[in-house]
Order: sequence, then C-alpha cells, then structure tokens
Amino acid sequence: MNRAIVWFRRDLSLEDNQGWSLATTTAAEVIPTVVLDDRLLDAAGPFRRTQYLASVGALAQSITECGGALTVLSGDPAIALADLARELSADAVMWNGDVTRFARDRDSVTARRLRAGGVVVDTAWSTLVHPPRSVLTAAGTVSRVFTPYYRRWSDRPLAGHAEPGSATVLGVERDALPAHPDPPQAAGERAALTRLEQFQDHVDDYEHTRDRPDLNLTARISADLRFGVISPRVVVRAIGDSTPGRRAFVRQLAWRDWYAHLFAANPDLVDHCQQPAYEHIAWQDDPEEFAAWTAGVTGYPIVDAAMRELAATGWMHNRLRLITASFLVKDLLVDWRWGEQHFRRLLVDGDVPQNAGNWQWCAGTGPDAAPYFRVMNPIAQARRWDPDGAYVRRWLPELGLIPGAAVHAPWELGPLELAAAGVVLGDTYPGPIVDHAVARDRALAAYGAARAAAPSG
Ligand SMILES: Cc1cc2nc3c(=O)[nH]c(=O)nc-3n(C[C@H](O)[C@H](O)[C@H](O)COP(=O)(O)OP(=O)(O)OC[C@H]3O[C@@H](n4cnc5c(N)ncnc54)[C@H](O)[C@@H]3O)c2cc1C
Repeated sequence: MNRAIVWFRRDLSLEDNQGWSLATTTAAEVIPTVVLDDRLLDAAGPFRRTQYLASVGALAQSITECGGALTVLSGDPAIALADLARELSADAVMWNGDVTRFARDRDSVTARRLRAGGVVVDTAWSTLVHPPRSVLTAAGTVSRVFTPYYRRWSDRPLAGHAEPGSATVLGVERDALPAHPDPPQAAGERAALTRLEQFQDHVDDYEHTRDRPDLNLTARISADLRFGVISPRVVVRAIGDSTPGRRAFVRQLAWRDWYAHLFAANPDLVDHCQQPAYEHIAWQDDPEEFAAWTAGVTGYPIVDAAMRELAATGWMHNRLRLITASFLVKDLLVDWRWGEQHFRRLLVDGDVPQNAGNWQWCAGTGPDAAPYFRVMNPIAQARRWDPDGAYVRRWLPELGLIPGAAVHAPWELGPLELAAAGVVLGDTYPGPIVDHAVARDRALAAYGAARAAAPSG
C-alpha cells in the first residue's frame, strides 16, 4: 500500500498504538490526521474539551519529532476524510475502533463514504487492554457478572507492545488547533508517564488508600486513558502483579474494559437500564433538588464538597463519585440519566461507557450492580473515608472552622459550637435538603414497587 491516512480519535499517542502500528507497517507513507468535530467538542464541556485539545497538541508535537506533521481537519469526518483521501490520492484510511453508539454510527457512515470512493478502510483496537469480543463466556457473550469476566480477562495474554513501522510520516497544512486555556492536567504522553511513575510510590498501598479523597493517592490517569495518550497495556505492564496493591489496581482496568465490552455488545446502555424492571421506577426528578445537587448546596457536606470540586476543576475522586451518585439517585430519587449527563459534561475523563456503566452500577440498574436495597449513608461514608474532615474543609470554606469529623454533620453541633465556627445553618450553609433515613425508605419503596410492577417481578 502506498499512502494511508491515520485518523486519530481517542488514541492520541504513537506508542503502543495498534492502529498507528498497522498503518506504518503496511503503507509506505502515512498522513496522521485529526478531525475536530463540533458535535463532540460542544458536548464535551470546558474541562474535557481543553484536555482533548491539549492532548492533540501534544500528539502533534510527537509527530513533529518524527519528522512529520499532524493534519488538522474540521467538520464531519465522513466528508473531511473522503475529501482529503481524494485530494492526496490516499489508498486507505485507518483508525482504532470505539464502542459508543455515536462513534459506531459515525464510523460506519465514514467507512461507507470512503469505500464508495474506492478507499480501503482498515481498523484496529488500541484503547482497551483486550479488544471487545475477546473476553467471552462459553456461550459467546460478555459476562454480566464481573468476577467471572475478570477471571477470563486475567487469563488472556496481553498483546505485545505495538511497534511503529518504517513508513514516511507526511503532513498537510490545513486547519490550526484552536487556542485554549491550560488543561486541567498536564497533557500528553510524557505527562501521563510521569503520573504513572509518581503513582509507583503509592501503588503497593492502593488497597488501603484508594478510597481516601483526603489523601488523593490514586493514579489520576483516567483522562490519559480517555484520550489514549497512554495505552492501557503500557499501564498494565508497568504496574505488574507482584503485590496485592498492584493486582487491585490492574483489576480496576478490567472494570474499564468490562464496561467498554458491555457497551460494544449493547450501546443502548447509555440510556436504558440493563435490568428492565427498573425502567418502572417512579423517579421524583425534582428540578430544584437536582439544581442543589449540581451546585453543591444539599446541606450534606461530603456531597457538596465533591460537587463543587467537580464544577471548579472537572475532577472527582472515585469514592466521591460513588457517594454523590448514590445521593442523587437514592436520596433525591432523581433518574440516574440526569446525573450521568451532568457528570459526562463536566468530568475531564467523561467517557460514555465508563460513566453510564458506573452510574448504572450506583443506581442498581446495571449488570452486577450494587443491590438496590444497599443505600449509601453519606454521613457514615464521609466519616469513614474523610476521617478528619480535611477534604470537606478544602472545598467548603464556610465550614472551615469546624474541627475534625464534626464537619460532616454540622446540624449535630450545638449553638455555641456553630457560633464559634461562624456557621449559621440555613444562612451561611444550608440545612440538609432531605432526611437521609426518610429518603432511604422512600427509595426502597420506589425500587420495590418497580420490581413488583415489572413483568418478571
Ligand atoms: C458515578 C461514576 C461515574 C464515573 N465516570 C467515569 C468516567 O466518565 N470516566 C472514567 O474514566 N471513569 C469514570 N468513573 C470511574 C472512576 O471513578 C475513575 O476512573 C477514577 O476515579 C479515575 O481516577 P484514577 O485514574 O486516579 O483511578 P485509579 O483508582 O488510579 O484507577 C486506575 C484506572 O482504573 C480505571 N478505573 C478505576 N475505577 C474504575 C471504575 N469504577 N470503573 C471503570 N474504570 C475504573 C480508570 O481507568 C482509572 O484511571 C466513574 C465512577 C463513578 C462511580
């Protein structure tokens, strides 16, 4: 093959990139290309958009170091790529696959258009440890239970490092990358490798520290994986399995693959409960309570601190994602799809399969989800995982003078203690929007009724 366009999407790295390796070993010349698609950029929200553009910038830099240039196109990829292929007489366009409904529809339209113009389309998989449909039950399906999936996932040999071939890397002057503010995290492969390197100091304690937002000792590589600036197989190789902490960490990457594999089998998981009985839940969907949750003014300090950090930075620790999601769905009885959309827009790592998969897990509506009757108590969670209240005080300055774990339930303080901390409940900080014990009973009743009403109920 003479000349191939390589379409980079969520695989913004040249290292261990299966699609890049395929193209550079089979074509004499390659044209690395991105297509800025407003449908995706507009949906991304400010943090993810900036992180994406900065990651594309870092990829462009790596390509320049190989003697080429990144070609930047804008608009509908089906049209932009077909036009470029025609103009440059490219024989082929290659890319790494994706599992979401949007991506699959876009890719099939693009492939059809290219093939109609006589261009070969070839695809690989690179953004997961194991490709979709490679970890199946004996019946040929993706297990709906994580543990057996994980066993098969672990038994499957890891693909070798995908080496680039010897193709000449070309570049065509087209659009410029739009100017953007600094991204939430340093972008690009080198920055991701540095984060991974720093995490090596903590990974052996991962089991003990991973749930502590006050310590913040997780790897912080989800946005790197989201944009493919680092390959998940590079991460698995670097961490290995020599200690329980390392094994626990790699298991999280299996969760990531699992949600993607489930989506590859059923992309409707983004807006349909995997367990159909829960389509009958009578959600309250109170817009004012939802707005209080998004603004971080529910009166539950751990929820409010986490939601304010998300709004300010695009980041939230996994334990806090669990607590805030459970609070929205169970305590406020708001449809998980509202929360999923809010998170997806704001999270720097917002990613449909991971986000919707986890939201369904928290709501109890997904595969192998938390059982519906398990309702997280936000105060007990806060006391356990932010034992000194340091995380909450960081994000709620109005409670900054309440010492220790007392900050998690300011309504339990006496008038003198509140006065000493300068807190006036209902004024400087809201009282609790719901009573957790009452809300819990309401949630159990709503879930119970949905189960009873379902055909199999
Ligand atoms: C309601 C909710 C929504 C979420 N939305 C997203 C999302 O949009 N994008 C996203 O990447 N993650 C999402 N997660 C999963 C998880 O919270 C983040 O991946 C994690 O917090 C990223 O931080 P880290 O890289 O420091 O994680 P670490 O603890 O260091 O884990 C390493 C990697 O393992 C993977 N991982 C860890 N936990 C999970 C998990 N529960 N599910 C799937 N993969 C996991 C991630 O790729 C992560 O980067 C969500 C979790 C919940 C509960």
